[in-house]
Amino acid sequence: MNNKKEFVSFDLICPECGVGNPEGSKNCLVCDKNLEETIAFLEDDSFDLEITNDCLLEYRKNFWGTERTGKINKYLWIKMDDIEFGSPINRFIFIYDGKRIVIPLREQNMKILKEFLRK
Ligand SMILES: [Zn+2]
Repeated sequence: MNNKKEFVSFDLICPECGVGNPEGSKNCLVCDKNLEETIAFLEDDSFDLEITNDCLLEYRKNFWGTERTGKINKYLWIKMDDIEFGSPINRFIFIYDGKRIVIPLREQNMKILKEFLRK
């Protein structure tokens, strides 16, 4: 599997409201979010993750992963310390504002995140 290819094939699902937008859209048709900021959008079991150049956004979902709770955690890349990847259980771990944040990730999503952090 070619991760790099996957990385650029962001299909313009708006990370904020979930609406699909035509390729090349600059802003979401529905909520007007700037889509050019989004580098990758990862759907996971209990949250959706949006990766931008500045930050990682975590859109929390309910226990069943069917709906968003409305809670959004924003982590600026420059403020993250001691970034590590857990194994054998896939986890993204870092220190933020003195707190240890642990985000469990699907294997595929962890690969994409690793690829991004290498750059
Ligand atoms: Zn939107």
